[in-house]
Amino acid sequence: MPFKALNLNPRLVQSTREIGYTEPTPIQAQAIPLILAGRDIIATAQTGTGKTAAFLLPILHHLMQKPPNATHALVITPTRELARQIEAVCRDLARHTKLRVALLVGGVSMMPQERAVRAGVELLVATPGRLLDHMQFQGQRFNGLSIVVLDEADMMLDMGFLPDLKRILAKLPGRKQTLMFSATMPPVIGRLATEILKKPETIEIGKRSAPAVGITQAAFPVPEHLKTPLLRHLLRYTPMPSVLVFTRTKQTAKRLAKSIESDGFAVTELHSNLSQGQRTRAMDGFRRGDFQIMVATNIASRGLDVSHITHVISHDVPHVPEDYVHRIGRTGRAQAEGDAFVLVSPAEEKSLSQIERHIGERLPRVTLPDFDYRVPSGTKMEARQGSPGKAGKAGKPKRQRGQNR
Ligand code: AMP
Repeated sequence: MPFKALNLNPRLVQSTREIGYTEPTPIQAQAIPLILAGRDIIATAQTGTGKTAAFLLPILHHLMQKPPNATHALVITPTRELARQIEAVCRDLARHTKLRVALLVGGVSMMPQERAVRAGVELLVATPGRLLDHMQFQGQRFNGLSIVVLDEADMMLDMGFLPDLKRILAKLPGRKQTLMFSATMPPVIGRLATEILKKPETIEIGKRSAPAVGITQAAFPVPEHLKTPLLRHLLRYTPMPSVLVFTRTKQTAKRLAKSIESDGFAVTELHSNLSQGQRTRAMDGFRRGDFQIMVATNIASRGLDVSHITHVISHDVPHVPEDYVHRIGRTGRAQAEGDAFVLVSPAEEKSLSQIERHIGERLPRVTLPDFDYRVPSGTKMEARQGSPGKAGKAGKPKRQRGQNR
C-alpha cells in the first residue's frame, strides 16, 4: 500500500517520497488511519518500526487544517536526545508546509523556548520537567492543545516521571486526542492508559519481548576483571564501523571511553554527568559518523535512531531483560542488519538466563581463541592484551571510522 492511500495531505506524501519511505511500515499503516479518524490509541511497537512518523504524519495533516500561530499538538518524550530526534523527523516531514516545531527541553536557556510558546508554534516536543516549568509560567498557552502524544511511556515511568506526567495531564485541556506509545507495556502503563485515554484502540506490532529481526546476538563469557581488555581486543580485531557500547554506570562509561580512546579510536561518551552541550555534541558527532564508537549508559538505550550502528556491545548484563531488548534495538534499525554482543561475567550468568527466557532463545557463547582468559585479577595486563603498545594519545584519535584493522 502506498502512502497516498492513507489520505494524508499530498505535501506530506511528497515528503515521505523524498525522504525515501516507499510504503508505510505496519505501525504506520495501522496507526495513521485511526489517528486521522480522531481516535485515542495505545500502541506497543518495537523500536525501529517507524513509530515517530506514525504519529507525526497524521498530526501534521491535522495541523495543516488548523489556524496557524496557535499550539495544537504536543509530544512528550523522556530524554532530550529523543526530543531532538523527533523534532528533526518533524522538520523533515513538514518541509513542504509552513508548520513550525519547537523544543522544550532542559539543559538550555528557557528564553527562546518561551518566545516559541508565546508565538504559538504549532507543534511542541518536550521533556516532562521543562514542560512543567513552562506550564507554570504560561499555562494558558497550552489550552488550545487538541493532540497530545506520550512517547516512550514506559521509559518515562522508569525515569520516575510518573508524578510529573500526572501533573502535566491534569493541567491539559480535557477535550483532546491522546496517543500513547510504549515499547513495552508494564501493568502500571496499562492503568495510566485506561485513566487518561478515551476508548483507545490498541495496536500491537510484533512480539513485545522480541528483538528486531536482522540482529545477530552473541554472549562472550569473561571474568569481570577482563571485560575491558576483551572489549578492546574485540574492537581492534573485528571490523566494526559504528559501535554503541553500553555500561551500567556513568563512571564505567567514562573510564571505558578513555581507555578505548587511548587505543586510537574516535570515541565519544553519553551519560547524565555531561552538560547538555556535551550531550548534544556527542550525539550529533556520533550520528554524523565523526566518532566510530559511543560509550553510553542506558540513557541511550531507548528509541535512539542512528541508522549506521553496526554493533551494540553491552559491557554488562542488564538486570532487567527489557533493557537488553532496548539496547540491542539500537542496531538493525529499519530492516538493516546488526550484531549485538554482551559480555558476561560468571556472576551475571543468572541475569543472562533471565534475558534468554524473556526473548525465547539461547544466545551462542563465543570464546576468542587469541585472547588470554587466564590472566589473574590485579595483573597489570592492559599493556599485554588491552593496549596496542603504540597507542594514539587520548584526545587525538589516529584511526578513523572503519579503519581499525
Ligand atoms: P522510529 O521507530 O520512528 O525510530 O523509526 C526507525 C527508522 O525507520 C527511522 O530511521 C526512519 O527514518 C525509518 N522509517 C520510518 N518510516 C519508514 C518507512 N515508511 N519506510 C522506510 N523507513 C522508514
